[in-house]
Amino acid sequence: MISDVLVIGSGGAGLSAALEAKKENVKVLVVSKAYPTNSQTCQAQGGINAVLETTKNDSVEDFIEDTFIASKNIASKNSIKKMCETSEDIITWLDEIAVPFSRNEDSDIAQRKFGGTTKRRTCYSSDYTGLKILHTLYDQCIKKEIEFLNEYFFLDFIKEENSIHGAIFLNIQSAEVVKIFAKSVILASGGYAGIYEGFTTNSNMTTAEAIVKAYKNGAKLSNLEFVQFHPTAIKGSNTLISESARAEGAYLVDTKGNRFIDELSTRDEVARAITKKLINKEEVYLDLRHIDTKLIDELLPQEKILAKTFKDIDITKELLPIVSVAHYSMGGILCDEEAKSSLKNLFVCGECAQGNIHGANRLGGNSLLEIIYLGKKAGMSAVENLKDSSIKEEIEVEDYQSYIEEILSSTKVVNVLTLKKELGEKLFYHLGVFRNKKEMEELLEYLNKLETSLKTATIEDKSKIYNKSLIELLELKEAVYMAKLITKSALSRKESRGAHFRTDYDKSLSSFEKRSVISLKENVDELTYEDVV
Ligand SMILES: Cc1cc2nc3c(=O)[nH]c(=O)nc-3n(C[C@H](O)[C@H](O)[C@H](O)COP(=O)(O)OP(=O)(O)OC[C@H]3O[C@@H](n4cnc5c(N)ncnc54)[C@H](O)[C@@H]3O)c2cc1C
Repeated sequence: MISDVLVIGSGGAGLSAALEAKKENVKVLVVSKAYPTNSQTCQAQGGINAVLETTKNDSVEDFIEDTFIASKNIASKNSIKKMCETSEDIITWLDEIAVPFSRNEDSDIAQRKFGGTTKRRTCYSSDYTGLKILHTLYDQCIKKEIEFLNEYFFLDFIKEENSIHGAIFLNIQSAEVVKIFAKSVILASGGYAGIYEGFTTNSNMTTAEAIVKAYKNGAKLSNLEFVQFHPTAIKGSNTLISESARAEGAYLVDTKGNRFIDELSTRDEVARAITKKLINKEEVYLDLRHIDTKLIDELLPQEKILAKTFKDIDITKELLPIVSVAHYSMGGILCDEEAKSSLKNLFVCGECAQGNIHGANRLGGNSLLEIIYLGKKAGMSAVENLKDSSIKEEIEVEDYQSYIEEILSSTKVVNVLTLKKELGEKLFYHLGVFRNKKEMEELLEYLNKLETSLKTATIEDKSKIYNKSLIELLELKEAVYMAKLITKSALSRKESRGAHFRTDYDKSLSSFEKRSVISLKENVDELTYEDVV
């Protein structure tokens, strides 16, 4: 198969990139392991940040400043500025293509105040913002006749020297390996917080294998140690209660019913305050009982349903027990302002990318903005790149069909679900809200052993028809590799900054006011620190 632009991933970033590229009337193919209506983006509830003409008492300068302060000085002010300056255009575009934004009494797009910000600048669609955006983008893709291949699992890139010329996929429905050649490839495969299985707000599809493949093919990764922990997930299910709850006035209270932190501090601070209480065997609750029921029904209907469904709690009358769990990856594949990765013909956007915008701590509402902003940049750059690239069908690639057959014919059966859970638990307790050298070194030892034992592993189900266990095994192998890269990055940053808090180095150090960069040099991980300008 051949395409001009190949987009891997059909979340908000991938679809924005595809739509932008399609404007130039080139062939665009979007391939993903799930269906476009069902990516991580559809779980985003709270909203998307922007300064609009109608936004009261706010300015683009304040938006830039808030984002930069939250980044703990390791984002690029220039990149942030460009994104913030474009925010109104992005909301106007989304509004025009029919995203049903909530409105205020003047019929202007309504905005709420999120944590770590000084102003009300988060636009929303009730508490279904990501879902509404994603489905509207998909409608547009259908209208523009963009092609899709769903349930195709990305296995590897097609690469010659330092250039990417396409990708290899496994058809999940048939276990058949397929090569797709393209002049430009956009990777929009989402983040890596999902590998904290059982301790994450992410879906079980957010598993990082594509980021690992980019790394193994020579792409630079950056800031991997910055895993954001969301303060408020429902205890027992890890289902997210969006920051919009606190934005609309919900309190955080401890076992004695006392509030113990400004609920709208940045996420790293709130998550630490909550986790300290939990370590001390206290409970922490989200308290919405004082909020008008009508307001809850209008602005937080999903949160109300989630609390009822997953905990059988009526948030208008009862306290909701919560915990802080892995939520978002600030790190990812390093790219420049035009979404270019360090590999020729490869562009990256969305949560898999490290575009120097979030630094050590992302503000709620900035991710949905970034995925569209950087997604559009990736689409533009991919089209621009077409004139310098060509289809190279003669490149020899690894025989993945034999690799799949080999896995299926092995006799060493492992229970992937149990191992995924074990990995998640180890990551949460050894590389969680609080970390230290000893715990992380123990984790590395565990990861090395697990990696070795998975080399020849297989699953019980040997079928080739819709073998989801096979996909889960492939995901797990790369998740372990990803976990090692995060751990190495976290061990190397001997300081505390934003979401990365080390109990053995509890201060920020100016010598670490840099982004970390990890890359593979002759099969050895090389970690460096670079100034961010
Ligand atoms: C519960 C929750 C609530 C959130 N709320 C907000 C919010 O209110 N505001 C905000 O700004 N941000 C929010 N976020 C963050 C935001 O939703 C994400 O950062 C964003 O949606 C990521 O978009 P994406 O397009 O990069 O990735 P995704 O939406 O994760 O899409 C990734 C795509 O890649 C595909 N893919 C992955 N691996 C492979 C593979 N191996 N082969 C083929 N395809 C693959 C997937 O199938 C999917 O189509 C929230 C996140 C969560 C988890």
